[in-house]
Amino acid sequence: MRVSVIGAGLGGLCLAQGLRGAGIEAKVFERDAEITARFQGYRLMLNPVGFDALRGCLPRRWHPLLDAVVGDAHGERLILDPRLNRIGELEPGRDAIVVDRDVLRHLLLTGLTVHTGAALTGYDVLADGRVEARFAGRDPAVADLLVGADGVNSAVRSVLSPRTIPTDTGVRFVIGRTPLTEQFTGLSRAFGSKIAGDGVSLLLGAMRFRTPPREAAEALAPEVTLPDIHDYVRWAMILPPNGSLGTETPQEAALSRMPGWHPDLCALIEQSDPDNSTLLSIRVVEPGQRWTPGPVTLLGDAIHATSPTGGNGANTALRDADLLRRALTTTPTLVDAVDDYERHMFDYGAEAVRLSLGALPAYTPQNQQ
Ligand SMILES: Cc1cc2nc3c(=O)[nH]c(=O)nc-3n(C[C@H](O)[C@H](O)[C@H](O)COP(=O)(O)OP(=O)(O)OC[C@H]3O[C@@H](n4cnc5c(N)ncnc54)[C@H](O)[C@@H]3O)c2cc1C
Repeated sequence: MRVSVIGAGLGGLCLAQGLRGAGIEAKVFERDAEITARFQGYRLMLNPVGFDALRGCLPRRWHPLLDAVVGDAHGERLILDPRLNRIGELEPGRDAIVVDRDVLRHLLLTGLTVHTGAALTGYDVLADGRVEARFAGRDPAVADLLVGADGVNSAVRSVLSPRTIPTDTGVRFVIGRTPLTEQFTGLSRAFGSKIAGDGVSLLLGAMRFRTPPREAAEALAPEVTLPDIHDYVRWAMILPPNGSLGTETPQEAALSRMPGWHPDLCALIEQSDPDNSTLLSIRVVEPGQRWTPGPVTLLGDAIHATSPTGGNGANTALRDADLLRRALTTTPTLVDAVDDYERHMFDYGAEAVRLSLGALPAYTPQNQQ
């Protein structure tokens, strides 16, 4: 069986790794000109379902490396005022694993065939049941199964399920990361904190690697090259609804909304890494009607994009990858495997979107406590 995976995000790469491990040929096609073409590095919280799915798709020999490069999050989730006085608590976070998305992506990329600069423009199901994927500026590719793992604006979805479209929640946020120096350890002691300011919220969470990723790879799996990054604080400022940045940089946008804030908070934004700061809008995709199962399917944000405040988008994409891998390796016919996968995925995918939208108000400025 040959599989074309569209999109080198977490879900697509995880699936490709899982299929590679099962001896199934999977080629990944990615729109970006280079794997590192844009901002990708932020902290993700993995729950046991997502983490187990990830492990299930990775070769066993990399499990010790994975365990070494994650971090641990536990403790209270505080609400502080801009002078860092404690004014409340969010629901306590369950103990979780945190991982840097860029580090995870590099691990997942190892050993895969990834064609970059390959933006899918459409596909055709051929008379023999195989699928021909078309790309801007490169030759088409034919496979037995086409998997759209191409994110919230999925080009595969626009053909397979054209009425399933993203909804803009109106929520905008700037996100960045700052090296975790001694000055900032006090800011990020807990699981995560929310600073409730005037019309904005600033969310903080530390990424503390159990072992620095590059060092861990050199010691545990020399065939893997991981980025040379160290502990950092991830910050995200949720802005008033429907805002835009105009000509401001993400740092300027955050700082302009922090007059009178504690100097450590201002320093955190000033010292952030400009290459890893950006403006994001929160859009969701709710899986609509199921289509008739066939040789084209979707996974991850392409079919169930969640709000990041739910902390479950990556977990659900990894779950999809593992479920589809298992279906394809255990179910006799391709269509039955896809049917089985989609039946479960539609249910838990819709639930993931619902949960993430339910969690959104606790973080947005108009609902500060
Ligand atoms: C700030 C932030 C924090 C988050 N925190 C968490 C968290 O703590 N826990 C959690 O579970 N989730 C979290 N999420 C959500 C999570 O990052 C996403 O749900 C997850 O990355 C989705 O993976 P994916 O593979 O489906 O899509 P993506 O990662 O979006 O990958 C899609 C890929 O497809 C490529 N592509 C797009 N169009 C085409 C095309 N036409 N042809 C070829 N390639 C194409 C894109 O370039 C991209 O590489 C967070 C998200 C954000 C933004």
